[in-house]
Order: sequence, then structure tokens, then C-alpha cells
Amino acid sequence: MRIGGWVKFSLIDYPGEMAAVIFTQGCNYRCAYCHNADLVLPEQYTQCIPEAEVLGFLKERQGKLNALVVSGGEPTLQPGLLPFLQKVKALGYFVKLDTNGSRPKVLKALLAAELVDYIAMDIKAPVSKYDFVTGISTNVVAVKESIDLISRSEKPHVFRTTVVRSMLSFNDIRDISRMVPEGSRFILQEFVPRGSTLDPEYANPLSQHYSKEELNRMLDFFRKSEIRVTA
Ligand code: SF4
Repeated sequence: MRIGGWVKFSLIDYPGEMAAVIFTQGCNYRCAYCHNADLVLPEQYTQCIPEAEVLGFLKERQGKLNALVVSGGEPTLQPGLLPFLQKVKALGYFVKLDTNGSRPKVLKALLAAELVDYIAMDIKAPVSKYDFVTGISTNVVAVKESIDLISRSEKPHVFRTTVVRSMLSFNDIRDISRMVPEGSRFILQEFVPRGSTLDPEYANPLSQHYSKEELNRMLDFFRKSEIRVTA
């Protein structure tokens, strides 16, 4: 496992649980608005945190922490993810996975082995705009397969979309919401321009972001239109 960073205590990353969060190095997408260049661009990787250090910390915190969030980058790219999570589960921790949904085979293996308890998946764009938003030629069939797997997994889960005004229109967001299966939770995440982004153009201009009020209005509209969205 290439672990590029961690947060040792969080009350906001795993709903209802006291969690540590690790961030894996490496991502197959290149979203222009991404704030995590040091986890995405190999030339900006920092020194890895040894897996043994994370496991040692979790062992030491048994009873004080009860969950681990595995975020990225894109964690499902890590060849050592499954054995690592086996060790984490053996210590008695809940595991939440944050994923871009590009590797349904890995998701399937993790679910079959009961190694994840909560999944958060980003749906980046409507099908027609996936390549534009992710910055690569995306296998949208794989993304849809992941949505299907997760929604049928009976595990707590959430689908979420980061909304950048210059990338996603109101109609795009409506189309994304239609990709979310009935009964699944869907969250619109406000894009906040700050710090650095993969494409520097996204770091500053306020024109890139929808306000909270606008996002709430969209969610209201979706509810009234009986598009299947819960927030
Ligand atoms: S925002 Fe995009 S590029 Fe950045 S880590 Fe997530 S999927 Fe990868």
C-alpha cells in the first residue's frame, strides 16, 4: 500500500464513528479541480507512511477509535488493498472506502470478502461529460457497474458529485441524479476553490462554484420533480 498521508482522528469522515483516515497515492483520473496533486501526480508524491505504522497505530487505539476511512487518490488501484484491509478488519475496525468507482472488480472482491462497511462513490459527470470532467478517456461502463454493485450491496453507501459551475450545468446535475438508483443517497458537494488544483485555473475564480443556496435549490427542484435524490 502506498499511503501518502493520514489523519489520526476524525469525527466527520465516517458518519457516526470515530475514525482515522488514510490517503493512498495514485489516481487514474485527472480532474482539473482536484486539490490532491500530491496524491495524484507521481512527481509530487511525498514519502509514504509505512503500512506497519498505520496498523500499529490502529492496534494501539483499539477501543478509542473504531473505524478507518480509506481515501485517495484512488484506493482501489492499490495492489495491496485487500490484504491490508484484512489486517484492519482483524483488529476489529469498521472500514469506509472512498472511491471513484473505476474498478468494479476490486469493489466486488472487497464486498465478497466483507472488507468494507461503508462506501462513498463519486459520480463525476453525466455519461456524455465523463471524459471532460475526469480528464481521461473513462470506462463509463465500469462506473455504471460500480454504481450497480454498491447500490445492491446492502452496505450503507452514498453517491456524491462535486459540482463545479463551469463543468456541470443544472441539466448535467439532473442527468447525474438519474444515474443514482432508487433508495441510494446522493449528495451534491460544493466545490470550494482554494489552495492549488491540478489545473491552476480552478484554484481561484469564484465563477467556478455554485453557492450552498443554489445547490439547495437544485436539490429542492429534484425532490419536487420526483427525481430520486436524497440529501
Ligand atoms: S478528484 Fe479526481 S483526480 Fe483527484 S483524487 Fe479524486 S478522482 Fe483522482
